[in-house]
Amino acid sequence: MKKLVYAFQEGSKEMKPLLGGKGANLAEMKKIGLPVPPGFTITTEACNDYYKHDKVIVPDLEASIFDYLNKLEEETGKGFGLVENPLLVSVRSGSVISMPGMMDTVLNLGLNEETVVGLAELTENPRFAYDSYRRFIQMFSDVVLGIHKFEFDRIMDKLKVKYKLSNDTDLTVDHLKELIEIYKTHVEKQIRRPFPSEPKDQMMLTIRAVFDSWNNPRAIIYRDINDIPNNLGTAVNIQSMVFGNMGETSGTGVAFTRNPSTGEKKLFGEFLLNAQGEDVVAGIRTPNEINEMGNLLPDVYDEFVSVTEILEKHYRDMQDIEFTIEKKELFLLQTRTGKRTAKAAITMAVDMVNEGLVEKETAIMRIEPEQIDQLLHPTFDRKALAEASVIAKGLPASPGAATGKVFFTSEKVAEAKENGIKAILVRTETSPEDIEGMVTSEGILTSRGGMTSHAAVVARGMGKCCVAGCGEVRVEEYNKQFKVGNRIFKEGDYISLDGNTGKVYEGEIPTQEVKLSGSFKDIMEWADEYRTLVVRANADNPRDAKVAVKFGAEGIGLCRTEHMFFDEERITSVREMIISKDIDQRQAALDKLLPFQREDFVGIFEEMNGRPVTIRLLDPPLHEFLPHSDEDIRSLGKELNMDYAELKAIVEELKEFNPMLGHRGCRLAITFPEIYKMQTRAIFEAIAICAYEKDIPVDPEIMIPLVGHEKELEILTHLVKVTAEEVREEKRVVVNYKVGTMIEVPRAALVADDIAKHAEFFSFGTNDLTQMTLGFSRDDSGKFIGEYRNKEIFEKDPFERLDQKGVGSLMKIAIERGRMTRPEIKLGICGEHGGEPSSIDFCHRIGLQYVSCSPYRVPIARLAAAQAAIRNK
Ligand code: ADP
Ligand code: MG
Ligand code: MG
Repeated sequence: MKKLVYAFQEGSKEMKPLLGGKGANLAEMKKIGLPVPPGFTITTEACNDYYKHDKVIVPDLEASIFDYLNKLEEETGKGFGLVENPLLVSVRSGSVISMPGMMDTVLNLGLNEETVVGLAELTENPRFAYDSYRRFIQMFSDVVLGIHKFEFDRIMDKLKVKYKLSNDTDLTVDHLKELIEIYKTHVEKQIRRPFPSEPKDQMMLTIRAVFDSWNNPRAIIYRDINDIPNNLGTAVNIQSMVFGNMGETSGTGVAFTRNPSTGEKKLFGEFLLNAQGEDVVAGIRTPNEINEMGNLLPDVYDEFVSVTEILEKHYRDMQDIEFTIEKKELFLLQTRTGKRTAKAAITMAVDMVNEGLVEKETAIMRIEPEQIDQLLHPTFDRKALAEASVIAKGLPASPGAATGKVFFTSEKVAEAKENGIKAILVRTETSPEDIEGMVTSEGILTSRGGMTSHAAVVARGMGKCCVAGCGEVRVEEYNKQFKVGNRIFKEGDYISLDGNTGKVYEGEIPTQEVKLSGSFKDIMEWADEYRTLVVRANADNPRDAKVAVKFGAEGIGLCRTEHMFFDEERITSVREMIISKDIDQRQAALDKLLPFQREDFVGIFEEMNGRPVTIRLLDPPLHEFLPHSDEDIRSLGKELNMDYAELKAIVEELKEFNPMLGHRGCRLAITFPEIYKMQTRAIFEAIAICAYEKDIPVDPEIMIPLVGHEKELEILTHLVKVTAEEVREEKRVVVNYKVGTMIEVPRAALVADDIAKHAEFFSFGTNDLTQMTLGFSRDDSGKFIGEYRNKEIFEKDPFERLDQKGVGSLMKIAIERGRMTRPEIKLGICGEHGGEPSSIDFCHRIGLQYVSCSPYRVPIARLAAAQAAIRNK
């Protein structure tokens, strides 16, 4: 028979897939001799079995659970449901990959009308006993019976008003007894039967609820956002309770071994005296900073500090630790690798290498490439920030800069985002139901809760700017407004948040660029030591080229020349060229464009200073350059001295049924060779200028788009070479250059051996290659791709993450056949996939020499390339 239950002493951290993260780490802490309350874990396999058996807990499993419960009774010397000395337990979910706040936990299970009396007598602390009981009813009802927590909060608030009490801790035994009666009546009314009192029933119902919580909507959304597979299942931990709510020498808290926001090597956390676990994270009372524990309970604090050091050394990574103190005795309830911001991740990784705790490779592998995106985006413009007016200050819960319009519900934020409006989510406190709004917002502001509140933890995980616990802000969600003093901010008003300082500003504040320095620079340099892929950027102008170089790009992998055409000064000549009736007229228009293009190339070459630059000749359908509205056509007609009707007819004629598959790319140059000729001339004249006037080196690669047939490339390569030769003669400049092609039409991949006769390099244009291989365009796929993802036809949007099986096969074929003709052929990718980590890993494996991506993704690509090299060693 399969073993479905493990005592903590039977497990270890390696057993995470079976025991879940929480269970495996509780076992591990026990193993290394730390004080962990005893308990056992029901495996993730048991959860998966539960789903396989149509949500039935099979008798074998139940028997096993009760067997381990007996052992727990022996170990603790207490009895489950025993009045004289009741064993109370927590029932805690624990998935393989931590999903903070996403799943459910019930504390103090085992209490009922009788055992509560026993507990009160035994501890000589009736207040504690009844406080625990009312908490149990609340949590059990929420998790198992589906009665929302706030209903109980409301009942408690009413009672507090009735007796004029301000804090939960002011409730006396009699108040609590009264409260419990009201709670129970409330529950009975809702479920039409009494609150379950038999401890074993309570336990089995809770286990079932934890299994069920694996598939609650917020857990599903969380897994979706974080790419966590749905079939992992959750384990359930049953653990004997320890009590932080036994008075002023008891308490509970959460601590990180290093600062999860900045990475600073200093214990960071919060605790509350006379409280139970949930109180700290729920943000109900504002907790104390962890170091204050040093004054209040100095001995326990010292012990705790040394435990945190042991844990960090043992796991060789920053730990996020939950603990409880029961009458000055310390207990550990959880440890896990702590979530951190990108900034903290980098700082810690570099520090840990310098401290000798981990190797460089480990440090590199620990940083999530996508996460560093947070660091590459603009921060507030300093000058504008200095002039902006601060309206309130809260806790700097998650760094970053956010500016947007205020909204008070998750739905409104999501709706705003759909409409292209930047939104800030403002709430009293957030709960897991707010996930969608948190994801779609620019930033989050809460008025309650500490640095480990739900809002803070989740925002840091997402790399979203968050200011939490901003007490001055009074949120009136129902009135769609918040107040600060006597000022009112309504839905739709602009505010700005600084997640580094906790300041909240009035109005919109412009943002500014970032630069690589300190630990970020170190980790990037280490990444460069390991990676074998070259990283280039897609840049169409000197400004982008400059950003790319700043972020470490080693060249330009795609310079799209058409973007240069849209400039106001040039577009008229471009249009003139398109509508010209004969070659002379076209040539005249092209002659006007040539100096502009030449100037553009000089600018880019200057920025790139000798690094390779791949210039793609004109690609989009000509129609894209023409005016469409009658009014615009009329005004162009005036400019070009043309009759409206005539011009309109030309515009109509150029319209295509399917422009993506129409007259574009190299097909333009097959019909109008003058265009590529002008572009080539502009490139080589720019090279001459760089050589003679500027004395800067250049390394140009000329790239022909949309080739599907060897002949196309043969003709156009010839054209480029002849033109280059002409300019060379005229200007007497010698320069090495390459001519190559994009591989973006499936046929090109299939006949790559022929294509390679004329191409010195292949650059995979995976945007078009994906469209043409899958047979749908990126622009039209929006209508169905969501449903395709829901039905798991695609795991990810194939335009974001390379379809390795399909499109990837074509790439492999192209490489293999291309090398048959030209073994030394240079290979790269310039589609958007060139900046996506899993696609970069694929590019590494199939032997490309470089990836090219947007300038802002260059550091992500450098890191992902290093990880690919390490992973595939
Ligand atoms: P989550 O995964 O949401 O943090 P946990 O299972 O860790 O849920 O439990 C919620 C809170 O209850 C935590 O603060 C935890 O420390 C506390 N807790 C859990 N089990 C016990 C226990 N046996 N004794 C005391 N407190 C507990
Ligand atoms: Mg926990
Ligand atoms: Mg293309």
